[in-house]
This record gives sequence, structure tokens and C-alpha cells, in this order.
Amino acid sequence: MSSLGASKSAFDNRGIEVSQVRVGAEYFIGKRNYERTVKFPHPNGECCVCSDEGGLKLKCGHYMCPDDILDYAWKQIKTLKHEISCASCTKIVDIDDIIILGLPDDEEKQFLTAALSVNFCLSQDIQQCIRCKSYCQRKNEDSPQVNCLVCTKNMIKPYLFCWYCLGEWKTAPTEYKKCGNSNCKKAKIMQLESAPMIDFKDKKGKTVKVPSIRACPDCTTIIEHNGGCNEMTCNYCKHKFCFICLIPTKEGSLICKSTTWNPNATITCIPAPIQANI
Ligand SMILES: [Zn+2]
Ligand SMILES: [Zn+2]
Ligand SMILES: [Zn+2]
Ligand SMILES: [Zn+2]
Ligand SMILES: [Zn+2]
Ligand SMILES: [Zn+2]
Repeated sequence: MSSLGASKSAFDNRGIEVSQVRVGAEYFIGKRNYERTVKFPHPNGECCVCSDEGGLKLKCGHYMCPDDILDYAWKQIKTLKHEISCASCTKIVDIDDIIILGLPDDEEKQFLTAALSVNFCLSQDIQQCIRCKSYCQRKNEDSPQVNCLVCTKNMIKPYLFCWYCLGEWKTAPTEYKKCGNSNCKKAKIMQLESAPMIDFKDKKGKTVKVPSIRACPDCTTIIEHNGGCNEMTCNYCKHKFCFICLIPTKEGSLICKSTTWNPNATITCIPAPIQANI
């Protein structure tokens, strides 16, 4: 995805939204089942995902079979990636190569490019206004409030919508965290469920996977872990908690005693599961 211009046209063609990207990923993963014995007009090699012969050569030199290329792409799209990498060496694979080697049908091809565009927009803090379909950039990533300039001009009054649920901002503009829409919770849960996992090390040196996005246990504001230590402070309500186990601090220190602020530090607590209820 090289420019926003290209992403916009794919987005417009299909008009798919964030929620549809997730549904699309579920729908397409495992949908295909190519005969492993099909002979492709390219050199075959051992697929780095399933180890079968019949993988097609990527530019990085690794091989993947067509259904694994597409399944792997959808799994990465589900975690909000806007570029797809090789399953073995993590070098970026061009979308055109994914289409040539993965052989998606027309529907899947359209959905694939549109889904990557949606993820690209999100990575740039750009969300589509559902009222006028224009693209709006979020000014402050600590607040889900987005101002659509097109609608604001047309309505001759500020039009604000919610980054998570895309609904019109129902509460006062100064209440910059809660949009007041009843379906907002569902939109947030979908975001929590599709968050990529990040690694922490436990006291035995074993890697522990933790979702990179959590909802503040107190006010449900979405908080992303951008490196740094596991003690988090919610920007909105100032609630302090452990990003791993979600247990709040007491008198300024973590009850779970896990620390990740120095390279030798380890965690001692059990990661809380993905928050399915907030
Ligand atoms: Zn394979
Ligand atoms: Zn590779
Ligand atoms: Zn608008
Ligand atoms: Zn909302
Ligand atoms: Zn909070
Ligand atoms: Zn903890």
C-alpha cells in the first residue's frame, strides 16, 4: 500500500467498514482447499507453513502454497496489519504477488485489497465518516472523538462522531471519551479481540503473550501498549493498573509486583485473558 490515494479508491469501490474486515477474515480463512497435487507452472518447494511440496516461490526465496498464502494474509489482516509478510522470514510480500500466487477468486481479491486499505487508514488514524463517506483524521489519539469537516460545513454546526462505533457523538463535545451510543461497547470488544499479541517474559524466562490493546478496567477507554513497562495509567480517568494481569495498583505500587521496566526484570503475574466483557 503505497499511497493513501490508492487505498481510498479500494475503500470506495467496496465501501467496506472495519467490522466487515473482521467478518471477512473469518469468512475467508480456511475457505479454499487446493489439491496439493495441482501442478503449477512455477518451481515448487516445501511450503514454510504446512511443509508440503507444492509451495510457490516468494521473492524472498521461501515457498508457500496458495491456500496458506491467503490464510496467512487474512490472519495478519485480522490483527490490523496493512502489509503482509512471509510466514518464514517476515519480509513484506507485495499484494500483487499474494494475488498471483494465492489465486483468490474475484470476490476474495476485492475483499483482500479493501481490507488492507481499511487497516492502512486505521494505522494513519483515519476513519470514514458513515454520514458523508469522507475520510477524517483523528486529532488526538487519546480521544475517540472525530470531527468530520465536510458534515460540519454542510450542517453549519460541529459534527462529531465516535472512532470506535462510528456513531454520531451523543454526549457533550467536552465529554471527550464517551460517545453515548449503546453499540459502542460491542465495537470496542471487537477491537480488543483483534489486537495483536505482544511478548513479556515471565520469571522463568518463558515468553508470555499479552494482547497489545486493553480496555481501562475502570472506564473502558481503549489503551494500546507502545513498549515500556507494564504499569499503565489511563489517560482519561488516571486509573493505574498492571497491563498484564489488569489488577489495579495499591498506594502507588503494583500488587502483582511484576516489573518490565528493566531488561532483566520479569513478570510474576498471570496475564488476564482478552477482555470479552467490559
Ligand atoms: Zn502450505
Ligand atoms: Zn521469506
Ligand atoms: Zn461526514
Ligand atoms: Zn462510540
Ligand atoms: Zn480509565
Ligand atoms: Zn500484573
